[in-house]
Amino acid sequence: MPPSPTSNQSNPPWSRDELVLALDLYLRHRGGLPGKNHPEVEALSQSLNLIGNATGVSKNQSFRNTNGVYMKLNNFRRWDPSYTNSGRTGLAKGNKDEELVWLEFANNPERLAEVVAAINANVESGTTTPINLNEEEEPGFFEAEEGKVLTRVHRVRERDKKLVKHKKDEALKKHGELKCEACGFNFSKTYGADIEGIIDIHHTKPLHTLQPGDKTKLTDLALLCANCHRVVHSRRKWLSVAEVKARYQTNRL
Ligand SMILES: [Zn+2]
Ligand SMILES: [Zn+2]
Repeated sequence: MPPSPTSNQSNPPWSRDELVLALDLYLRHRGGLPGKNHPEVEALSQSLNLIGNATGVSKNQSFRNTNGVYMKLNNFRRWDPSYTNSGRTGLAKGNKDEELVWLEFANNPERLAEVVAAINANVESGTTTPINLNEEEEPGFFEAEEGKVLTRVHRVRERDKKLVKHKKDEALKKHGELKCEACGFNFSKTYGADIEGIIDIHHTKPLHTLQPGDKTKLTDLALLCANCHRVVHSRRKWLSVAEVKARYQTNRL
């Protein structure tokens, strides 16, 4: 019998990262879910606490304890056709992201495995600086499907001051100007020659390939105007530079 769904009330809702890791454990034990004391349940509880510490949300002692993990595994059952097809319903309580994470990852085990590995690698490395991605701070910026941890790594890399400078210097040397790789916008041509050096840097590597400690190459970075960069991050499934470029070309006329 699943435990009472009210036993974990004071903890924050599960983030995408957490749901992705839990889904991975769920799918590996789909036929018979592990009990609260199963080593993998304990291991997941520990990983979630690492993420919780990095994101500053693990204030409660019961944060993602084995009971909470066990309950979340039971929550996933209601999205699982192999369970519900036999007329069973699973535990009803849960949040909306649960279903989205299920839809995005449950039928794509390879992608799930890659994202899980990348989240774990970045969390366990301990190099994840405290995550404080305040989504309200930047309206229209969507945390990626892959969750907070990897979103944060992306943001930190594309805001690295030294790299940003190198990338701009390289472009100026090569092309004599800074212009958006998606729409061609050039700030100084549009607003005056004294408006120099303005362009956003976007990190193009897929989030699941972000390993702690690897070096960002200049070729991993793209120059984007503020609008196009905004468009890239304007939905949960981030757009590629090529996709933004194609959209710009089709829609601007
Ligand atoms: Zn642009
Ligand atoms: Zn970006």
